[in-house]
Amino acid sequence: MFANNEIGTIQPIAEIGKIAREKGIYFHTDAVQAVGNVEIDVRGMNIDMLSLAGHKFYGPKGVGALYIRKGVKIDNLIHGGGQERKRRAGTENLPGIVGLAKAIELATTNIEEHNKK
Ligand SMILES: *Cc1c(COP(=O)(O)O)cnc(C)c1O
Repeated sequence: MFANNEIGTIQPIAEIGKIAREKGIYFHTDAVQAVGNVEIDVRGMNIDMLSLAGHKFYGPKGVGALYIRKGVKIDNLIHGGGQERKRRAGTENLPGIVGLAKAIELATTNIEEHNKK
C-alpha cells in the first residue's frame, strides 16, 4: 500500500522499488489512497505495476486502472477477447474511462495546494 489512509503512513516506494528491481522482483503497489495526495513517478520509483480506483479521487465508481510497465509479463485476467491487449476481455466502460481520466487530471493538479487544505 503506497499510502495508508487510516494511519497516515507513506511507504518509501522509491527505495522498495530500487531493491526489487536490483533483485529482479516485480514490484506492484496499491496506490489507491496515494493518487492525488502524493506525487507518483512510476519510472523514477521503479514501480512495475500500480493500481488505482477512480472513486477515491472523485472519479466514477466502478472504474480503476492497472499500470503495467512495458516488458512486465502477467497472466490475462479474463480470456476471450482482444480488449486491453487481451489481458481483460470484454467491452470497455468508455464513459467510466473518460471520467477516470478527467478525475485523475484534476486530482493530480496542484497536489501541494490540495495538501495545505
Ligand atoms: C478502496 C481501496 C481499494 C479497493 O478499491 P475499490 O475500487 O473500492 O474496490 C483498494 N486498496 C485501497 C488502499 C483502497 O483504499
